[in-house]
Amino acid sequence: MLEARCIHRVGRLAVGDTAVWIGVAAPHRREAFEACEWILDQLKRRIPIWKKEHFADGDSGWIGSEVTPGEAPVTEENFYSRQMRLREVSPAGQAKLKAARVLVVGAGGLGCAAIPYLAAAGVGTLGICDFDRVEATNLHRQVLFGARDVGKPKATLAARFAQRLNPFIAVRTHGERLSAESAPGILQHYDLVLDCTDNFATKFLLNDTAVAMKKILVQASIYQFEGQIHVYDPAKAFGCLRCVWPETPAEGCVGSCAETGVLGVVPGVFGALQANEAIKFLLGLGEPLSEAVLLFDLRTLATTRIRRAANPHCPVCGDGAPTTEIDLDPFAPGRDFSQWTVIDVREEHEARPIVALGSPEWQHRPLSRAGDWLASLDRSQPCLFVCGRGIRSGNFARRLRGEGWTKVYSLAGGIDLALKVRPTSAVS
Ligand SMILES: [Zn+2]
Repeated sequence: MLEARCIHRVGRLAVGDTAVWIGVAAPHRREAFEACEWILDQLKRRIPIWKKEHFADGDSGWIGSEVTPGEAPVTEENFYSRQMRLREVSPAGQAKLKAARVLVVGAGGLGCAAIPYLAAAGVGTLGICDFDRVEATNLHRQVLFGARDVGKPKATLAARFAQRLNPFIAVRTHGERLSAESAPGILQHYDLVLDCTDNFATKFLLNDTAVAMKKILVQASIYQFEGQIHVYDPAKAFGCLRCVWPETPAEGCVGSCAETGVLGVVPGVFGALQANEAIKFLLGLGEPLSEAVLLFDLRTLATTRIRRAANPHCPVCGDGAPTTEIDLDPFAPGRDFSQWTVIDVREEHEARPIVALGSPEWQHRPLSRAGDWLASLDRSQPCLFVCGRGIRSGNFARRLRGEGWTKVYSLAGGIDLALKVRPTSAVS
């Protein structure tokens, strides 16, 4: 849209008088109509425009107004009054909510429950990200939409609902599919993100992006009659999704709603729980769910809490070092030695060709003198030992593991094999 202007008058109007004039300039007619509609909606909510129609066969009553005649106009004061009465919220907490910027990714079953409560609570900037359109099979659980909305974009409809519910907040839509390229650009405008998606790829993408950008992430997943919820908080040491599942599971290894079915109220409960966690976090209220995953079976109402712990070798929030492996293939996909120490344990008398492994630090420390240099190694940093064929370095790493070292590894096959795979050596 290029430009929009609106002029309205208040007071008694004679038949034929212009009450509202709206001018919109946009490259497409549809955009212009949508803008007119939005401006009219805003106007109707803010000032009591109403009219009484008289028909020859009787009175139709007051129509065309969103404000019932005689009712006081809605203000932020009365909108939030019951919430602000809580000592834990108060006007100060309400101001925190107003300053908050929250993104809801996915306007499906979870999003449809979370969005209204976040909007009603007064989250000042509410973003809704969804590229999908309403389908008939969504309607039993995506309760912001009606049968007449099938085929329409979910983000736009959900945003309209939120804005109509609370005219005092700013609602933004992001109608694109979230990808590794687009996610940082969208998330940068928000402090807290609700993952209301239903597929592994997006859940793990959101996890990785939230960790990298230090955003609070409230994630929920549902399955038939049950679900789970947890909160990633970059300020706490309870880790992220990949601490538990380093690899993104294959799509379809757990049935989707389309395949296995779901009771509509299940995402409703979990979406509301997500909004609750977000609001708690923004207000600094109670115990955030960052230390555990909460599982909730709605058939039995049984809840289970599984304590979370950060994995120091998590590929996203840890150092990415493999935990159980010792003999590492240096050219495995995703292998990155840039933060590692590489120690060549071959003896002085050996010819010592080397191969570039991407590590800035290549040190020569003969194995026969390990007693001299071992104590100076930083045990918290991952360290790769190399020798000619990977046998001495492997045995050495295994011996240290047995002594309680956790981040020591050996180059599988040694330098000889590495040179065959990638002959970028220099003789030292
Ligand atoms: Zn992690």
